[in-house]
Amino acid sequence: MTRFFSSILIVSLLFSCSSTKGLSATTPPTPAAPSAVTTAYWQQHVDYNMEIDMDVNTYQYKGKQKLVYTNNSPDVLNKVFYHLYFNAFQPGSEMDVRSLTIADPDGRVKDRISKLKPNEIGYIKVNSLKQNGVSINHETVGTVLEVELAKPIQPGESVTFDMDFDGQVPVQIRRAGRNNKEGVALSMAQWYPKLAEYDFEGWHADPYIGREFHGVWGDFDVKLTIDKNYVVGGTGYLQNPNEIGHGYETGTVNRPNSDKLTWHFVAPNVHDFTWAADPEYIHDTKQVPNGPLLHFLYKSTMPQDKLDNWKNLQPKAVELMQFFSNEVGQYPYNQYSVIQGGDGGMEYGMCTLILGEGSFDGLFGVTAHEMGHSWFQFILATNEAKHSWMDEGFTEYICTLAESHIFNKDFNELSKRVYGVYAYLAKSGTEQPQTTHSDRYVYNRSYSISAYYKGYVFLKQLAYVIGQENLEKTLKQYFKTYAFKHPKPIDFLRIAEKTSGLELDWYLIDWTQTTNTIDYAVKTIENNSVTLERIGLMPMPIDVLVTYTDGSTEAFYIPLQMMRGEKPTSATIIKDWAWAYPTYTFEATKPVKSVEIDPEGLMADIEKENNKN
Ligand SMILES: [Zn+2]
Repeated sequence: MTRFFSSILIVSLLFSCSSTKGLSATTPPTPAAPSAVTTAYWQQHVDYNMEIDMDVNTYQYKGKQKLVYTNNSPDVLNKVFYHLYFNAFQPGSEMDVRSLTIADPDGRVKDRISKLKPNEIGYIKVNSLKQNGVSINHETVGTVLEVELAKPIQPGESVTFDMDFDGQVPVQIRRAGRNNKEGVALSMAQWYPKLAEYDFEGWHADPYIGREFHGVWGDFDVKLTIDKNYVVGGTGYLQNPNEIGHGYETGTVNRPNSDKLTWHFVAPNVHDFTWAADPEYIHDTKQVPNGPLLHFLYKSTMPQDKLDNWKNLQPKAVELMQFFSNEVGQYPYNQYSVIQGGDGGMEYGMCTLILGEGSFDGLFGVTAHEMGHSWFQFILATNEAKHSWMDEGFTEYICTLAESHIFNKDFNELSKRVYGVYAYLAKSGTEQPQTTHSDRYVYNRSYSISAYYKGYVFLKQLAYVIGQENLEKTLKQYFKTYAFKHPKPIDFLRIAEKTSGLELDWYLIDWTQTTNTIDYAVKTIENNSVTLERIGLMPMPIDVLVTYTDGSTEAFYIPLQMMRGEKPTSATIIKDWAWAYPTYTFEATKPVKSVEIDPEGLMADIEKENNKN
């Protein structure tokens, strides 16, 4: 695989101020010298070594896990936390109760967790945990393991955690589980004790309530022992393909004489390890020229038309991989697997688990989306719980762009529906700012529209603000700078600013941190004079198309003053519009017949009717 080591350091200067509070009259205040603290980007690192023994009859498994955890932070750590995601699939869990109490529960979850019997629930039970060979105190609190360290971990220090655990795979409810409605035996996502991330914002020991993930970068070495008839697909390169076969072999298959096989996987530089297994998987492979080997694992028991869909998907998946690599950055691993997981679709390291029995369009769409996440979430590993719009929205944008490219559809036309859904949310009274933690939206619907649709519009509309070419350059530079890291919204925005030379803080603030809306209108036309009006709070630069009484047209561009510049444009550039002024008047050279704001419909104006006069 290719690794990217960026030398970009994020340097911030923090000045501490002295406070005069609490000083007595007799104590002369000592002026504190401003202390400049230079903070470089850092991230934690963890290497996993796991040996897993799976019983496919009881759906229980035993695990031995050795982690080597390196504290690259400037802080001393007294605690660590693990996620025990499978504990969410128990009656009375936070995920269960949230689903029972939210107004619009996920139809796939509803009250299903509350009805699980003891042999159907999921769990991870930690039997023992040691830090550098010394037993340490730990407590399971819902889906989180709280660990009190025997010895604090110093900045720069590496420690070893050894854990023994037992797991049970839940009946499939959401994302992971056993025997789902498409009959996949084991969909093993978020199935192991997973160290929580500690970053510049502190610990992210989020309980698993239903939304997505944030993990620590590192290398995985996993030995999975399972019934010899099960075909496994997932994260990581198989190290012993000729002991396994099942479509992975590179030469003569020589299996040990045993009821079980031990699959040995290695995955370098990932932040998750996922797999699925079924005795009825077909396993096909397809090589992407100058790219990874694609694996497809899907049930042989599906009807013929569904099997045909999976065959027809394969050349399209090659095109998708090439498209994303060209548009954003070269896919850095040697392998990617599209696996029938039997529930929705979810992105993981080097693979995805998806529904397998839909129409071809559905299968293509979900594959495009989940593969697109390899860039926006997996490699550019944003915190999904905090900035869901950066993974879902950016992914929807890039996979819709891919769809338009592969099937020769008009991208602006495909985007119109997305703008429409966002406008519906903005006018519904149920919108919450995109800074809301993804578990804490009042409605699931508001979360989904905000993350997927409003996140998509963030990028598509940014092309309107800075120009399409600048957006494309921004995406490529974002990948170069932040691959294998945890970028934040401001990191992306700064790259857009540096690429375009424009000031864009207003765009990030209004679009992602507020529910301010865009509404510009044509107010009056008098002879050569045109007056526009800003009704919504959110500022925007304005493209205007003027049609003269003689039938000719002219495109104008009104820069937004706070941007301190203009996008590249062939339109006639006129004076700036300073945001606080509710109206703006300009004089054309000839009598004006009609005016249209943003004729291409790239600005997410929530009241389009008043854009024309
Ligand atoms: Zn997604």
